Amino acid sequence: MKTYVLKDERKKELKLLDKALQKISRKELPHILHVQQAILRASDEYMYKKGVTRIMPIMIAPITDTLNHDVEDCELKYEGQKFNITKSMIFHKQIMLSSPYLDKIYIVSPNVRLEQEEEGDKRHLFEFTQVDFEFKGASMDDVFEFQEGLVKYVFDYIKKECADEFKTLGIGTSHLDVTIPFKRYTTQELKAKYGDDFEEIASKKATQPFWLINHKREFYDAEDLEKPGTYRNYDLIWPYGYIEGLSGGEREYKYDRILTRMRELGVDENAFRNYIELAKEGKIPKTAGAGFGVERMTRFVCQQKEIDDVTVFTRKPGETYLF
Ligand code: AMP
Ligand code: MG
Repeated sequence: MKTYVLKDERKKELKLLDKALQKISRKELPHILHVQQAILRASDEYMYKKGVTRIMPIMIAPITDTLNHDVEDCELKYEGQKFNITKSMIFHKQIMLSSPYLDKIYIVSPNVRLEQEEEGDKRHLFEFTQVDFEFKGASMDDVFEFQEGLVKYVFDYIKKECADEFKTLGIGTSHLDVTIPFKRYTTQELKAKYGDDFEEIASKKATQPFWLINHKREFYDAEDLEKPGTYRNYDLIWPYGYIEGLSGGEREYKYDRILTRMRELGVDENAFRNYIELAKEGKIPKTAGAGFGVERMTRFVCQQKEIDDVTVFTRKPGETYLF
């Protein structure tokens, strides 16, 4: 009896092995990957031209992003100390800008987020890469202008460089003809108009990327003190139903504000004691920034059904993984 179970399981596994190899061998894959490479190349070029300094990623650290909506914690021990696997480098971005010699930085940053499987989800991987940037002294308007310029630069570059890839993939490029500046909406106005699924509905109706402003989320996104209960943060929404492609915000940086927001959201202050200490000493500067998902941009650009269509090895939540 036992051997049969084992055999069956092994059979199942061999089927998965076959599926994994088929995924790697899709004829579209090299074209998608070439477009993704062009996205990264053009993004790097844009950053370089704008004087934004590239920092190498941190993969494990004693603190990481507090976001944990439906995301399991991912910890390991090193030298008797607890480390988290990076969910995002938000705190490292803020801390490195305490240097008087660094003003504008970005990281091509691998993130691990053990997301729950969700029926019909086409947008989440449990690990992905974001292009994550932060600017000292910047406001949300500065970030909007910067990101709009980046999207235009990247899309113009790939339209020119990847014409053959688009032909082979059988897709046009009219979705890459963006007009800047992008329109701006608040979450409240779109929710009033479309109800709870406002992001998806508005994205499906849109033919241009747009900004969605004011989300109640992590403690580090700045609250607008002139309008308490509203937040100076934003998402960039890809049109044609591809939904969120970037998130960012102006940041809380003052000691009392950080503590207030942490307490409001029940953040473990002890885990953040050194970050809090820097804030207390006034060393965390005023910054704003954002991060866009590379695979999400690739999916939008290549008009793929789901995000896992742009990966080589499946990283879709809820699968059995062999590699
Ligand atoms: P966040 O600040 O959490 O919104 O992350 C920044 C950006 O990374 C998002 O706007 C997405 O483009 C991308 N991203 C976040 N989570 C995932 C995920 N699980 N899978 C793929 N991309 C993601
Ligand atoms: Mg987000």
